[in-house]
Amino acid sequence: MAKRTIDEVDLAGRRVFLRVDFNVPLGRDGAVSEDARIRAILPTLTLARRAGARVVLASHLGRPKGGPDPNYSLRPVAVRLGELLGEPVPLAADCVGAAVEAEARALRPGGILLLENLRFHAGEEANDPGFAQALAALGDVYVNDAFAAAHRAHASTEGITHYLRPAVAGLCMNRELEVLGRVFDAPARPLVAILGGAKVSDKLALVESLVARVDRLLIGGGMAFTFLRAQGCEVGRSLLEADLVPTAARLLEVTESGRGIQLPEDSVVATSPEAEGGTLVPVVSIPADRMGLDIGPATLAAFGAVVRQARTIVWNGPMGVFERPAFAAGTLGLAHAVADSPGFSVVGGGDTVAAVQRAGVADRIDYLSTGGGAFLEYLEGRTLPGVAALDERR
Ligand code: ADP
Ligand code: MG
Repeated sequence: MAKRTIDEVDLAGRRVFLRVDFNVPLGRDGAVSEDARIRAILPTLTLARRAGARVVLASHLGRPKGGPDPNYSLRPVAVRLGELLGEPVPLAADCVGAAVEAEARALRPGGILLLENLRFHAGEEANDPGFAQALAALGDVYVNDAFAAAHRAHASTEGITHYLRPAVAGLCMNRELEVLGRVFDAPARPLVAILGGAKVSDKLALVESLVARVDRLLIGGGMAFTFLRAQGCEVGRSLLEADLVPTAARLLEVTESGRGIQLPEDSVVATSPEAEGGTLVPVVSIPADRMGLDIGPATLAAFGAVVRQARTIVWNGPMGVFERPAFAAGTLGLAHAVADSPGFSVVGGGDTVAAVQRAGVADRIDYLSTGGGAFLEYLEGRTLPGVAALDERR
C-alpha cells in the first residue's frame, strides 16, 4: 500500500516536523566524518523550504543513556548542514519544552531549526506518549524521511503520529519504499538474494522469508558454515551455530534444482582472521584447526553465474572477513559481479554497502539502501512501525 508523500500536502507557512536520520559518524576532532546521510535528505529539505514550510529537523545520534550528553550533541551536524546549505543552521538547546516551542513558532517560511538529540530523553526510545505529544507540539505536519529508524516504534517515528497529522513520507523514505516494494511485490525474475555476514541467528528469520520468495538464495560468509554442517561437512573452527543446524537442515530441504539455497563449494581457510593469508580448500575438506574466512574462486564463479542470469538481485552480508585484505576477494569479486549484472540490484546493510564502496562499484548498483536493521526487517516481511504509522495514499 502506497504512503502519502511530502509533495502531496500543502506546506506553505506550516511547521513541518521532519524526522531525519542524522546518525552520522564523528571523527576524533568531533566533526562529522561522513556526511552521506545529511546530504541524502537535502532534496526533501529543499522541497519543504521552497514550498514555504517552516522546518523543524529532528534526529537521534548514537546511544546516549536517556539524558543530555555533550558527546552526542547534534552540534557537529548543525555545522555540517550549515556548510552544505551555505547558511548557518540554528541548533535548539533541547528537543522539547517551552523554549523550543517558542523557537519553532518564531520560524519564518523557509526557516530551519535543528532540534537537539531526541535520545537525550528516555521517552524517545520508550515511545512515551507524553514525550511524543511534546514533539508533536512543534509541528503542523509530520514528515518521516528516516527509513533507517522506521523499524523502531519510537516517539519520533511512531508515537508522534497519534498527535500530529498529516503524517507523510519524505523523498528518501518514499524512494526506499518504492524500490523495496518493487523487489518484492512484482520482481522481474529470476529474483536472486545473496546473504552473508557472521551470524545465522541474526538472519534466520530472513533466510526463512527469502527462501519462500526468491528463485535462488546464495549463502556465503560465516553464516554458510551452519548450513554446510547441516549438509554433513566438517567445518573445522569456522563460525558455527550448532543449535541452529537442525533448522538449517530443514531450510535446505526446500532446495531443488534451480531453486532454494545454494552454498559455497570452496573456502579460503586460515588459523585466524588475523592471518596474513589463507589456503584454498573445498568445503568438504576444511582442516579441523582452520576456519573458513572467505569464499573461494569456484564459489565466486558459481555465484557470479547466478547473478549474471538474475533480473532482480538483493544482497546483504559480506562473503568473508572483507575487512582483511587476505579474505576480501570473494566479497569484492561478488560486488563486481552484481554491478556487472543487467539485473536490478539492491544492496543493504552497513558492512555490505561499505564493501561495495570499497570495490569501487557503488555507482553501478541500482540502489543502496540507507537502512541496516530496517532493510533486513523489511526483507523479512515485517511491518515497520514507522512506515505503518504514515497516512495511506487514497
Ligand atoms: P551488514 O552490516 O552488511 O548487515 P553483517 O554485519 O551481518 O553485514 O556481517 C558483516 C560481518 O561478517 C563482517 O564484519 C565480516 O567480517 C563478517 N564475516 C563475514 N564472513 C565471515 C566469516 N567467514 N567468518 C567470520 N566473520 C565473517
Ligand atoms: Mg554489520
